Amino acid sequence: MAHYICTGGCKGVSDNPGTCQASDCPKNNQPLKECNCTDDKHGGAFEKEDSASETETEK
Ligand SMILES: [Zn+2]
Ligand SMILES: [Zn+2]
Repeated sequence: MAHYICTGGCKGVSDNPGTCQASDCPKNNQPLKECNCTDDKHGGAFEKEDSASETETEK
């Protein structure tokens, strides 16, 4: 089923259209992108931008 993802790096996923809610995301308050994937990979949307965001949140 369709869902909405943030491509700003926060990896936010929502079942409903809207805007990114992560205050520390570059795309905070920007519209989420519609996605219809069924494998939770979101067409690689979260993997493509690994060059832009280092793993700073890694513990
Ligand atoms: Zn975001
Ligand atoms: Zn998806």
